[in-house]
Amino acid sequence: MELPESGVLRSTGRQQLRRYVIVGGGITGLAAAYRLARGQRRTGVRAQIVVFERERRWGGQLETSRRQGFAIESGAESFLTLPPYAEQLCLELGVELQRPNRGSLGWFIRRGGRLRAVPPALAALAGPPSPGLVLNGLLSPPGWLRMWLEPLLLRQGLNEDEALRPFLARRVGVEAAQALVEPLVTALGGAGDTSVAAFPEVVEKSRGSLLLSMLAGHRMTSERSPVSGGMGGLVSALVNRLASDPAVVLRAGTAVEQVRLRDGRGEVVVDGEALAADAVILALPGPLAAGLVEQADPALAQPLRQLATRSMTTIGLAFAPGAVNLPPNGGGYSYPADEGSGVRYCTWDSARWNNRAPAGSQLLRVFLAGADDRDDDILIRLARTELRRSLGITRPPLFGVVFRRPEAMTCWQPGFRRAQENATRRAWPGLVLAGSAFRTGGVSGCVAEGERAAAAVLEHALLV
Ligand SMILES: Cc1cc2nc3c(=O)[nH]c(=O)nc-3n(C[C@H](O)[C@H](O)[C@H](O)COP(=O)(O)OP(=O)(O)OC[C@H]3O[C@@H](n4cnc5c(N)ncnc54)[C@H](O)[C@@H]3O)c2cc1C
Repeated sequence: MELPESGVLRSTGRQQLRRYVIVGGGITGLAAAYRLARGQRRTGVRAQIVVFERERRWGGQLETSRRQGFAIESGAESFLTLPPYAEQLCLELGVELQRPNRGSLGWFIRRGGRLRAVPPALAALAGPPSPGLVLNGLLSPPGWLRMWLEPLLLRQGLNEDEALRPFLARRVGVEAAQALVEPLVTALGGAGDTSVAAFPEVVEKSRGSLLLSMLAGHRMTSERSPVSGGMGGLVSALVNRLASDPAVVLRAGTAVEQVRLRDGRGEVVVDGEALAADAVILALPGPLAAGLVEQADPALAQPLRQLATRSMTTIGLAFAPGAVNLPPNGGGYSYPADEGSGVRYCTWDSARWNNRAPAGSQLLRVFLAGADDRDDDILIRLARTELRRSLGITRPPLFGVVFRRPEAMTCWQPGFRRAQENATRRAWPGLVLAGSAFRTGGVSGCVAEGERAAAAVLEHALLV
């Protein structure tokens, strides 16, 4: 296939040329390309770095739609400062960051048809669950007391493969697990069938107590988001930087069809044509990576497929000034697993972040489980009904935007660790697997993954 003769190819002479291919232009793939481009200058091994993205748009699950002065995220609205990789990347790229607004740090749980405030500290899973939880009806007095017995329970070895729901029930009691902790975890992208391995900061690691490690883990982490352009601002900054690097070739709107090994060298197939690669990074959710290697290596495809994903639909609703009266000190609410009829949580983006809506206007988002294929109009109506019932919003929105993310969120179901190990062990030299299937931590974890993948490619390059 035809690729431009980039500056690096011309300057080094064909003999020593290498080519690294990255499949997937989400945050993992873009971070990998950025680190590869910078890292290879130090190793002295020069290569062309080609990034293939099947959509015309870069960023994968990160997408910010701009309309009438609103910046509407399709998924992530922020990233965590721990692990610190995304924040560090923004600093390097000159992307200015903001913290969530002070008056929006609280969270609500909608249970039994009512919004019940979780104390602000607990909303960040960082403070002692106070008696207020009993007063506002979220927990019964015995449920609250049972939860507080948790630090006294005998320490048991942590089985990272255990699903979250039985783990929580065992530690804090069934009532607190269902009514309090699980809805908070839902808002972090988890579910009852997620394994505890997906929440390394909040599990009983060194301290032996879930509540105490919550206190310790989350005191240190916080959220950040780009001041302008939303999360799309980070994507544009990365793409602009890569586009100006002569060693990098960016190919959007180009799906890789197959990845295979030929005569000890990697090869990707695009538009039916093979392109040789000294190293290939698959920066994709597990099942998509499985599809690409299936033909060449079914034994690698099998564990990759076990790194299962779930779908999400996000509906953003924009409101004119005065149309919405939100409860004070809140950033959103979530549902316990057995309530909500498909709605998992709702975020009040314009309350949490500056520059997401014109002055006085409000932007709210409703998150549904699954990639709902009903018409946009039906989904917008459904979101309006949800907001009328939960927040009393009766005025029509200025507009609504629907994003479907099929098979986007990695589930981290029990058995995940084994599948990760099997896939990594089976991958041939020069093939690097990366992305949310291999590390928790959302966007920051994905940036870390991109950097790990780049380091692995550079190490491989020095060996061959
Ligand atoms: C609704 C939602 C809310 C979220 N909220 C948060 C949050 O608040 N904070 C947070 O930190 N994280 C959040 N996340 C998670 C975070 O967005 C993801 O973990 C991260 O963006 C995944 O990035 P990635 O690059 O690994 O994968 P992706 O973004 O999925 O990128 C993979 C890319 O590969 C491309 N591709 C697929 N097949 C091919 C092919 N054959 N050839 C070429 N390209 C291909 C895809 O088009 C895609 O662009 C959220 C996710 C969702 C869905």
